Formats: sequence, C-alpha cells, structure tokens
Amino acid sequence: MTNDFLSAIYYLEKNHDLSDEDFIRFIEHCESDDALFSAADRVRRNIYGDEVYLRGLIEFTSYCKNNCYYCGIRRDNKNAQRYRLSCDDILLCCKEGYSLGYRTFVLQGGEDVYYTDDMICSIVYKIKSLYPDCAVTLSIGERSKESYRLFWNAGASRYLLRHETADEEHYRKLHPKEMSLANRQKCLFNLKEIGYQVGSGFMVGSPYQTTDNLLSDIRFLQELDPDMIGIGTYITHKDTPFSNMTNGSLILALRLIALLRLMFPHALIPATTALGTIHPQGREKALKAGANVVMPNLSPVCVREKYSLYDNKRCTDEESAQCRECIEKKIESAGYRAVTAIGDVKR
Ligand code: SAH
Repeated sequence: MTNDFLSAIYYLEKNHDLSDEDFIRFIEHCESDDALFSAADRVRRNIYGDEVYLRGLIEFTSYCKNNCYYCGIRRDNKNAQRYRLSCDDILLCCKEGYSLGYRTFVLQGGEDVYYTDDMICSIVYKIKSLYPDCAVTLSIGERSKESYRLFWNAGASRYLLRHETADEEHYRKLHPKEMSLANRQKCLFNLKEIGYQVGSGFMVGSPYQTTDNLLSDIRFLQELDPDMIGIGTYITHKDTPFSNMTNGSLILALRLIALLRLMFPHALIPATTALGTIHPQGREKALKAGANVVMPNLSPVCVREKYSLYDNKRCTDEESAQCRECIEKKIESAGYRAVTAIGDVKR
C-alpha cells in the first residue's frame, strides 16, 4: 500500500472527512482494505471497547403498500406470504427477548396501513410499561411528522429508516414514481427534530449503483449526521423485477462500514443479516471492520420465512434462544463481547 493511502486513512481518522477523489479511491481499490479495517476497529474500540450491542428484531408485518423494485415483500409480489402479528404476539416476543437479555426491541415491518397510529402507539406504550428499562426502536417506513411525534410520546426513542440511495436518478431506478427521495429524506430530518436517535443507511451493490452514487450516500449521511448507520449488501429476490440482477459485494460493504466508522466514530453500526446471508462469516467480518451492533431475530419462527426481503435470508429456522446463542458465539469468535445493555449512542 502506498503512503498516500496511509496518510489518507490518518487524515480521515483525525478529520472525519476526505475529498471526493480520496473517497472514490478508497471505494474502488482494495490495497488499503487491511489498514482501513484496522483503523476502523481501533476507533470503535476507543469508544465502545469490545462491546457489541444486541437488538431483538421483531418483524411484525409482511404487508407493504410500497412497490420497491428490489424488495421481496413489495406490494405486487403475489407469491409473498403475508402475515401480521397482534399486539399480544409482539408482547410475547418481547417477553422472550427480555428473558434472553435483550434491552432493545426493534419493531420492523412493511408499510402497512392496517397498523394505525393509535395501534402503533398502544403497542409501544405497552412494551415501555412492561419493560421500562428497554428501548423501543421503530422501523415502519415513511409517516407524517405528527405520527412520528405520537410514537415518540408513546415511548419510542429510536427510528430506523434507510435513505436507500441519495442520488435522485438512482432512486428513480429503484422505486416506482409514487415514491420520492425528497419525502424519505424529509422524514429523516423530521425524526431528528423530534428527538429520535435516527438510523439511516443504504444497500451496497443495489442495481445500477455507481461509485458516484455511493459518494452521494456518504455526503448525505454527513448532512444528516445519524446515530445509526445500516449497511447491507443488496441480495436479489426471485419474485421482483430485479430477479436477474447480481448481488452486492461483501468486500465493498465492509469497506464502506470502515469508512463510515472513521467518519462517524460514535455511530451505532450493525453487522446486518444481509452480510451474514451473502457470506457465512459476513457479520464477523463486519464487526472487525468497525460494526458494533447485531440484531438477532426475535420474530416467531413460524413467520420468519415470510418476511422475505431477499432470497436465502439467514436465521429463519432457529428459535430465538438458539439464535441468540449462535450470535453470541459468532461475536466471541470475532474477538468481541455481546452485552446486555440498552446501548444508546455515545455522543
Ligand atoms: N418498511 C420499512 C422497512 C424496510 S425493510 C422501511 O421502509 O424502512 C428494511 C431494509 O431492508 C430496507 O430499508 C432495505 O434497505 C433492505 N432491503 C430490502 N430489500 C432488500 C434486498 N433485496 N436486499 C438487501 N436488502 C434489502
């Protein structure tokens, strides 16, 4: 590796920013990967030590009104099996999760209007009443600022909403015309204004993505300054218009995780399920490249396969307890420690 790369890593670590040209060089070249990953790991260890935060993921609905071309639960996928969990089902997941040591519950789903604001508020409120020492994270897509405020008042304190791509032209290639990048970005700023810890992010290797698009993603994240950044590889789903497209690359995703760790030293960065799907050690590799969160599945096993965003999704057949055990082993084998902590961002 040239001194050039090394000094750019040093500069990024100190200043949390690089020129467009330097970011592009990192994104497109592999020579610097080892040095980049170890710098990212050093930075994460300085702030979060060897701790990995666990979040219990409850995928509570596979109905979606949107038609994103990449997603397996898109509205027009007639082969998708649809399900909805009741409030009691969700509370049962939380009960099991709490006893397994989870102190954050992430409620994720398609954009499903069946769950009115009142219903979401009541679910959040019940979870917070039963488990006041836990955080509730929502990941239910785009809603109005008023709705977000109601959820916040009911006790939700974190929200995950990936921007998916920050480039208008690229956004149009991934989404039908009734959806808009401007609205998605507006939602993210609304969530921040209300006070949520906000998570954004994007898929690496989504169809038609260019290096310039990734640069736009980096620049948008700088503008948003999120608390959490979710990076996963794009993985093709057979029942979508993108069924012939190729999957994203793990190494490129790891490179972006490392760059983002150096840019946002305090961020919560999950080693996502998509990375574990694309490669058996994908999540361990992500931890070693700067990730510090894992989100094991707490959904009832009977619905897991139905929340099929992409083909061959990992961890669809194990009970939550097994899943937790297996994840803990993976975390340890990578040289880190799974902790039972609410795991707020350390700003
Ligand atoms: N309805 C919610 C949750 C969406 S699912 C929302 O709009 O935020 C969570 C994430 O899965 C999406 O943000 C997207 O980045 C990712 N995803 C969807 N389809 C995917 C695919 N084919 N491969 C990899 N990730 C995918």
